[in-house]
Amino acid sequence: MTPSLTLDEFLLCKQAIMRYGKQGQMIVAIEELSELIKEITKNLRGRDNCAAISEEMADVYIMLEQLIMMFDNDNEIRGQMRLKMKCLKERMDNERGG
Ligand SMILES: [Mg+2]
Repeated sequence: MTPSLTLDEFLLCKQAIMRYGKQGQMIVAIEELSELIKEITKNLRGRDNCAAISEEMADVYIMLEQLIMMFDNDNEIRGQMRLKMKCLKERMDNERGG
């Protein structure tokens, strides 16, 4: 179980995957990602849509949790995040020094 979900939320996500299938939930993930992209774009164009962005971020977050369950890759993601954060830190440190 990922630490960011309650047990009930975790079980609900598992049930959604079982009911709608991995492929169905992957399609939903794609749809939710595109909805977030759309709201971010609106914001960049000057729209005051912070509530909509929050809603779409929540949708994406829920779908990311389901993708983690489907691919069973929580540890790989943590490892990749550590690596990418290390690279980001190095890049920012180099920019400061350069
Ligand atoms: Mg949405």
